[in-house]
Amino acid sequence: MMTVTHFTAQQAPCGKVVEADDYEDRDDEALLTQETDYGCGCVSIQHQYHDGSVACKVIHHNGTVLKEELLTAE
Ligand SMILES: [Zn+2]
Repeated sequence: MMTVTHFTAQQAPCGKVVEADDYEDRDDEALLTQETDYGCGCVSIQHQYHDGSVACKVIHHNGTVLKEELLTAE
């Protein structure tokens, strides 16, 4: 099941304040995917796994990966 939230003024990773769509998708395996698509082209993706670890990726609208990390639950 996917939930979409629209923002009219959200600050993108590049610093611009633009419109954005936030997608939240949760499946039966308790895996949560959250993605934000900004109007300028920047994208932010977060995956949350069953064991509590979180993978996060932020991509600038010029294609540069600004952040990519995996946070593991203790
Ligand atoms: Zn941008």
